[in-house]
Amino acid sequence: MATAVAWSSIRMTSQPSDARSGPLLDVEVVTLFPEAFDSFLRASLLGKAVEGGIVRVNRTSPRDFARGRHRQVDDSPYGGGPGMVLRPEPLAAAIEAAETARGKAFRILLAPSGRLFDQALARELAGRRRLMLICGRYEGVDERITELFADEVLSIGDYVLAGGETAAAVVIEAVARLVPGVLGCEASTVDESFQAGRLEYPQWTRPPTFRGLAVPETLLSGNHAQVARWRQLQSIERTRVRRPDLLSRHPLTSEESLLLKGGAAKKRKG
Ligand code: SAM
Repeated sequence: MATAVAWSSIRMTSQPSDARSGPLLDVEVVTLFPEAFDSFLRASLLGKAVEGGIVRVNRTSPRDFARGRHRQVDDSPYGGGPGMVLRPEPLAAAIEAAETARGKAFRILLAPSGRLFDQALARELAGRRRLMLICGRYEGVDERITELFADEVLSIGDYVLAGGETAAAVVIEAVARLVPGVLGCEASTVDESFQAGRLEYPQWTRPPTFRGLAVPETLLSGNHAQVARWRQLQSIERTRVRRPDLLSRHPLTSEESLLLKGGAAKKRKG
């Protein structure tokens, strides 16, 4: 298997070899489809972070560790039923080879039955230097992989994807943008949706009028305190309408209640 490890770490490593101080976020992806990440890891700010060595994403395929002429990685489920299940041996070998090559990681198995991924968890994961994302396919992975290897099982939402690769991409992007230096403007991660159990306020840019719709006057006033209050009201209102569950979990603060009362009084006066 030594050749397979070398192939995985050389060909599928997204960081240039001359990065000096090592990545701030080092991600191992165990996937049958390493190439699925190619364009994703080259695009936009994440692409720059990878290029600059702030983020590194290594990919290892269990296929490289599968035995036999056909390198079969799956088999039918014990007990019967439709589809195929990923066998434990190639997955275990891929996980162990990645860690032998580059060090222990916090291992996350992607599965619809996992804990729901959210912004709070993205923040938590951004504090870990090495993550491993294990992608399932077909009917999923042999349960012994979960038992023996997973530090966490994560779902990105209540729907079923064909494979863990898109889920891994979601986790990588959500976590990487919280790593210092990945976003152009650090402030962008402070004042945004889910930060304090609220959705972000709506935004506008030029032109001032588009297809008969004008930008709200407050935003053109130049009065920063007024703009901040207005945005906070919009954020609460949007959360109330679109995500009442967030409001139930993060009830209005006394400051927000006061702001709402003030807003309602203003509306009544016209
Ligand atoms: N039979 C599984 C079930 O009903 O829970 C679904 C398997 S799914 C078709 C194949 C793989 O896609 C999973 O092993 C997992 O890695 C990934 N996957 C699918 N939906 C996901 C989700 N919502 N979150 C994270 N990973 C998901």
